[in-house]
Order: sequence, then structure tokens, then C-alpha cells
Amino acid sequence: MFSKILIANRGEIAVRVIRTCRRLGIATVVVYSEADADSLAVSLADESLFIGPSPANQSYLVAEKIIAAAHETGAQAIHPGFGFLSEKAEFARQCAEAGIVFIGPNPEAIDAMGDKIQSKRFAGQAGVSVVPGHVGEIDDTAHAIRISEEIGYPVMIKASAGGGGKGIRVAWSRRDVEEGFPAVRAEAKGAFGDDRIFIEKFIENPRHIEIQVLGDKHGHVLHLFERECSIQRRNQKVIEEAPSPLLDEATRVAMGAQAVALAKAVSYDSAGTVEFVAGQDKSFYFLEMNTRLQVEHPVTEMITGVDLVEQMIRVAAGEPLGFAQGDLAIQGWALEGRIYAEDPYRKFLPSIGRLARYAPPKEGEWDGCIVRNETGVREGDEISTFYDPMIAKLCVWGKDRPAAIAGMARALEDMHIEGPAHNTAFLSAVMDQPRFQSGVISTNYIPTEFPEGFSGLTAEPWQADVILSVALAAHRVLTQRARGVAGVFSGRPARTDWVVVVGHTQRDAEIAVIPEGLKITLPGEGRTLALTAIDWKPGAPLFRARLDGRAFTAGIGPAAEGFDIRLRAVRQRVKVLTPLSADLHQKIPEKAPPDTSRLVISPMPGLVVSMDVAEGEEIKEGQVVCVIEAMKMQNIIRAERDGVVGKIGAKAGDSVAADDVLAEFA
Ligand code: ADP
Ligand code: ADP
Ligand code: MG
Repeated sequence: MFSKILIANRGEIAVRVIRTCRRLGIATVVVYSEADADSLAVSLADESLFIGPSPANQSYLVAEKIIAAAHETGAQAIHPGFGFLSEKAEFARQCAEAGIVFIGPNPEAIDAMGDKIQSKRFAGQAGVSVVPGHVGEIDDTAHAIRISEEIGYPVMIKASAGGGGKGIRVAWSRRDVEEGFPAVRAEAKGAFGDDRIFIEKFIENPRHIEIQVLGDKHGHVLHLFERECSIQRRNQKVIEEAPSPLLDEATRVAMGAQAVALAKAVSYDSAGTVEFVAGQDKSFYFLEMNTRLQVEHPVTEMITGVDLVEQMIRVAAGEPLGFAQGDLAIQGWALEGRIYAEDPYRKFLPSIGRLARYAPPKEGEWDGCIVRNETGVREGDEISTFYDPMIAKLCVWGKDRPAAIAGMARALEDMHIEGPAHNTAFLSAVMDQPRFQSGVISTNYIPTEFPEGFSGLTAEPWQADVILSVALAAHRVLTQRARGVAGVFSGRPARTDWVVVVGHTQRDAEIAVIPEGLKITLPGEGRTLALTAIDWKPGAPLFRARLDGRAFTAGIGPAAEGFDIRLRAVRQRVKVLTPLSADLHQKIPEKAPPDTSRLVISPMPGLVVSMDVAEGEEIKEGQVVCVIEAMKMQNIIRAERDGVVGKIGAKAGDSVAADDVLAEFA
């Protein structure tokens, strides 16, 4: 076994690998770039070594620097994490030549499987069912159109070296191919330094189901069941679970057998994932094999009890697998929600900035569930444009799927983040959604369930009650404090009748202090509520309590005459007013929002790659106005109506902020 391992990665996966090494008594070294000098991974590792500037191609992607770092620190093996060098066969070879063990599969397996075009050819030969398409390189746009028309629309244009949902575009028509082919090619070149493109049939409304495989250097290969990762946006996974609600035992066995057969065919000797798209009828087609640890590996660990990082290390050290297929069983259900720095209210566009507050939920056992939060950041850290905008992976295990969903919904209530925009409200919305709860999901889930984008949910009756109670309780604490400061405590009794105003809704409430908290009478509704076990202080961003016995955590912040309260996917501006003041409020007219229909606005911060319209040009709805690159992705900004272009606000090469005006209509 190794005594020291170097981790050639950053963020949560570096922290994840450190945790297992520590348990196994193995010393760790992390390499870091300028942006990561003060990172959590650096502070947790036994040793750390600076390897260069923030852009990955000058640090995390430079094999020579990493191998030199291993030599310098005496590390015997390198864990590549995921992304970066994890699927570079060349790197695995360089490690071997330098006498360092690469903690991953043999380079031949990476070569055979790490590339989408090659792996499809290979899988086809190994008898695995493959998505129909053109398994070969596409030369140019004309070739792309010819192939797409042979396959039949819709098709998917993909970068052979793609990963992380980058370098993928669906084309429904010739026009989409004309536009998409060069865009995917440019994206692939930028993100992977490899612009080979292929095209395959786009399977409509599929599910993404993948099998975790594990092999050793002694010819054993087994699988650790499936994960379903159908909840995606931009072809990137957002919520994953294990097992899959779609599979029955027979399909699970069949899929597992295909995955193991493919892995055996390349003498696979590490942890890897065989990805499939599956129809609702349980038919399935091979998509790609990821020859590395997968981002969503924790859900498999939670249902099997196997530490995949430990297994990778043991196998790399030459140990045979310590268990057989028959020793493995699925226990309970696990979910992972990826907490991204992205704005769900704005088409999930990436966000950046300092984590002004970052308070994740408590890890460990919680109401019969197990909560595990995989993170690489701390409060005060910066989410930068250099790397993936992931803040954390919140994982919850429950005894069955409903328990895991309820546990995740509760844990998300306690995830408190301020600074960059983040998607926790969106994840909560999914947990609270009847369709997600039913398990009938597909990769189209987000566009079909949120066709207009995500704008939060309206409050369920229990949520409206929670929000009203929180507002009343917080208001009471603040007014009591004000009365104390003013020295009027001993005078008149505090007012008990209030009106809670949310938008156009007004609810009358009578409050009474009880030993456990607050009793709230709703005279208009003939009901009372008991708010107990209140845990909140003025200024605290989270309000914890029980309403009629049900535990909750709500977010709370100040707002004019009241509070801004957030509960799961619901966010409300709440005013607590005296009956007289509430009467007056009803008479104030509402302000109209500003008119932005004349403007084309940048939905995200980024770099203008091209400005495709000119002043005075007549343009049509849907026409490309410009292309903005953000987080290594090319985003096409289109006109939302017909018109004539007036002033242009940015040119190619400019950096723009969110909400900057890119162009105006005359
Ligand atoms: P999977 O297929 O494992 O779900 P992805 O394909 O989304 O996950 O993730 C692999 C991608 O993770 C890489 O291509 C890279 O963009 C990204 N990545 C690399 N390193 C990290 C990291 N430390 N934290 C988060 N994401 C990372
Ligand atoms: P990456 O390497 O970025 O993970 P994949 O080939 O695994 O790329 O595709 C990412 C996602 O895109 C899949 O999880 C799936 O949702 C969707 N996808 C990929 N290929 C197809 C296809 N042929 N038909 C339908 N959806 C697809
Ligand atoms: Mg994939």
C-alpha cells in the first residue's frame, strides 16, 4: 500500500480523496494553482505544492508539473479526481514512465473508452447496444448536414473528447446544424483541445442511467448497480439518485452484465462508469464510458457501503477486490443535489463571486436520514470563472425513495448561501414536485416542468402558514426589543392583533405568547397554529422552529415594513402591519416594472466572442445577435423580436457583466 498520494485536482474531489486517504493512514499532497492558494483542499492536505497560474492549462493540466511535484514530495501514486487529467491516457503513461502509479485504469482502457467515437466502435464490437449514428469524424458543416440528414432529425452533435455536458448540441433542423456544428467545434477546441466531432440520433425523452463498474488487476470486474441522472440542464447532471426508479431487477441485471462485459473487454482495472440512455420502456443504449471516478459516486457509496476512492487506491496498489458481485446489495435510497453557483431564475446561467455566507446543513444522521455534504469551499472563498461553478454536492440517504426525498428537502432548507447566485431553491422545487416524487422522469424534465424557466413556486398552504408564523414571530422579537430600548416595556401591553400582507393577500392574526413559543390565532380562518422550539436571533439568516410539530428551517432577511422569507422554493416579501396601516396599504397603487423589451441584455457575465449584428441592420426574431463565452461554454444570444438594430453596446473581445446592454432596437 502507498504511504503518500498526490492529488492532481482541486475543489470538492480533492477534499473527498483526502478524507479517504486520512482514514487509510496515507499522507496526501495537493497541487494548487494561484486561485486555489487558500483553498480548503490545501489546508486539509498534509503537504501542498504550487504549480502555476489559475487557468487550468497552465497548472492542473500540465502533466510535467504534476509529475515533478510527485517526485519532489516523494508521492508514490497520483489520484487524478475527475475532469482535468483523469481521462488522459498519455498522462497515465507518463506517470508509469516516471515510476509513479496512476490511480485509475490502464492507459489502453482509457484510450479505448475515453474517447466517444472509439468507445462506440468498441462497444458495438463487444455486442453492447449503441445509439444509432455516425461513428466517425465529421469534416465540415456540409458533411455534418449530410450525415444529420442520413440519420434523420433530431440529431445530437457531440465532441468526441467531450465531458461535463460541454461540446454537445441538439439539432432539430439543417439550420441548427449550420449553427451548431461550428459552435460545438469551437467549444470542443477551447475546452478539450480536440475538435473531432461526431453525430448520433437524439433519443427523445430518454432517461440517463449508468452503471458503476469496478475492476482490479487480477481480472475481476463487478458492478455496483446503477445511478439515474436524468435531471439535467444543458446536458449536465443536477440531481442523481441510486438506485433508479425505472429499473426492475431483470433490467438491472441485463444492464449490469453489458457494462461488465464492456469493462472486461478492455481489462478494466479501476472504478469506471458505463453510461446509457434508456427509453421509458426500459430499452437502453450505450452512451459513453467514463474511465474515472464519477462526480455522483457518493450515491452509490451510500447504497452499497463501499468507499469507491478506497477501492481505486487498493486496486491501483495491486490488491485484488475484497468482495464479489454476490456480496453486494442495494440498501435504501440515495440522492445527490449538485449545488451550483448558477442562477436558476435566469436559465441556470453561471454566477461567480465571493461566498459571503456559506453554512451547509449538519452532516450525519438527521431524522432517520444520513446527510453528507461534499464540498471544496468555505465561507469567504471565491467562486471564480476558472473552474466549474460547483459549490457542493449535497447527498442524502433514506430507507426508501420517499424518505430520501423528504430528507433532501429538509437538508436543502438548511443550506444557506449568500454571494453568488445558487440553485438550492430550484433543487427544493424538484424535491417538492409530484412528478419527481412519482419517479417518472426524463432528461427533458427541466424544460417540460419549467418551460418558462424557473421563477420559484407558489406557497402550498402549509408553507403559507410557516411564512406567516415566521414573520409574526420575528416581528414580535423586533418590536419587543424596540420597546425595551425605548423604555416602554412596563407601559401598555404589546399589541397582539396584526395583519400579515403578502402581495394582495392579507391575513389577520392574533398572537399570544405560550411557554413553548407562540400561539397564532387566525380569526378569519377559524384556526390556530403553534410555533414552537423557535431558534432565531435578530440578524440571523435562518429561522428554525416547528409549526404544529413539523420542523422547518426558513431563510429570513429584512425588507421594508417586514421580511423577505424563503422556504424551500418559495420566496415571499411579507409585511406585518397594524390593521390601520394595512387598510392604507391596499390603497397604494403598484409601480409598473421598467420596459426592457427594446434591449438585448447579457444574461450572464462573460466574454463577447462575436457581435453578429450591426447598427441599422434589420433583424428577425431568433436571429443571432452575438455569442458570449462564459465558463468555457459558447452561449448564443438571439433577438427576442423583429426590429432594426439601434446602438450596439459591446464588440468582440469585450467583457460584459450580467444585465449589460448588448444591443438596442432602434
Ligand atoms: P459525471 O459524468 O461524472 O457526472 P461530469 O461529466 O459533469 O460528471 O463531470 C466531469 C467534469 O467535472 C469534468 O469534465 C470537469 O469539467 C468537472 N470537474 C473537474 N474537476 C472538478 C472539481 N474538482 N470539482 C467539480 N467539477 C470538476
Ligand atoms: P458528457 O461526456 O458531457 O457527459 P454524454 O455523451 O454522456 O456527454 O451526454 C451527456 C448527456 O446528454 C446525457 O446524460 C444525456 O442526457 C444527453 N444525451 C447524450 N446523448 C444523447 C442522445 N443520443 N440522445 C438523447 N440524449 C442524449
Ligand atoms: Mg456523460
